[in-house]
Amino acid sequence: MKLYVGVDLGGTNIGAGVVDENGRILHKDEIPTGVGRPYQEIIKDMGDLIKKVIKNAGYVVDDIVSIGIGSPGVADKEKAFIVYANNLYWKHIPVGEELRKYVNLPVYIDNDANVAGLAEAVCGACQGYRNSVTITLGTGVGSGIIIDGKPYSGSHGAGAELGHMIVSVDGIECTCGNKGCFERYTSATALIREGKEAAKTHPESLIAKTVKGDLDKINAKVVIDAAKAGDEEGLKIFRRYIHYLTMGIITIINIFDPDIIAIGGGVSRAGDFLLDALNKEVEEHIFYKDLPHAKLCISELGNDAGIIGAAMLGKIN
Ligand SMILES: [Zn+2]
Repeated sequence: MKLYVGVDLGGTNIGAGVVDENGRILHKDEIPTGVGRPYQEIIKDMGDLIKKVIKNAGYVVDDIVSIGIGSPGVADKEKAFIVYANNLYWKHIPVGEELRKYVNLPVYIDNDANVAGLAEAVCGACQGYRNSVTITLGTGVGSGIIIDGKPYSGSHGAGAELGHMIVSVDGIECTCGNKGCFERYTSATALIREGKEAAKTHPESLIAKTVKGDLDKINAKVVIDAAKAGDEEGLKIFRRYIHYLTMGIITIINIFDPDIIAIGGGVSRAGDFLLDALNKEVEEHIFYKDLPHAKLCISELGNDAGIIGAAMLGKIN
């Protein structure tokens, strides 16, 4: 059985795990990232963490094929560089070269959302399909596009940013500098924003009642639960949310025509309530009505997708 190390490099924590060739985590651990420190220090900590998880899994470095890293932002896969990672304050960091000072193994890097998509493709909801797209509905909207079993991120590593597809020209301002991006309408943040507005103007709504008027307590679940219970304001928000999500999914299908689209992130906990509404509206708006089209499903791996997918970079390379 071949073994790989996967590293989930985040702005808050660095997770690392030893993963077998089937995508099973044998052992994992995590440490705080401590952003703001020199990158050399952070990468040394990462090296120590990797050695620790290998040892605690009962192996030595020579048993491991490679190290894969899922990073926020843009990666240069060839050079194992992180080109740009906003929430780490990193630009043009030679991660591979630096990390090999501590653990001498091949290092692969890709964007964190891409590796999460790869994990779903290898051993999660998209297992067994050649072409898949995973979209993660959280604070923002992340996405991983897998074509012929490999993550696709374009010619410069900047691709697969489906969260920044523009679905409303001159719409709501986005953190990327444009207006009307998909994630402004389909993230958990969007549900919270609209839930707060509704609770303000309709204090009689279930959304306002659930949080007893404390608008800061409104989260995606509060809004979706209100819709489930048939609350008028909750349903209005949910229907609009499904409408925008459908338009994005239709666009993804029109461009990629994947076998399957997995939906993850906090909002996906709504499960069948979300899927049923989506399936219904996607059927109405699909272009080629006589052809089969991408199946929609809920992603399976949750937070482990980061470590698993990063590890699998070594398997597919
Ligand atoms: Zn944007």
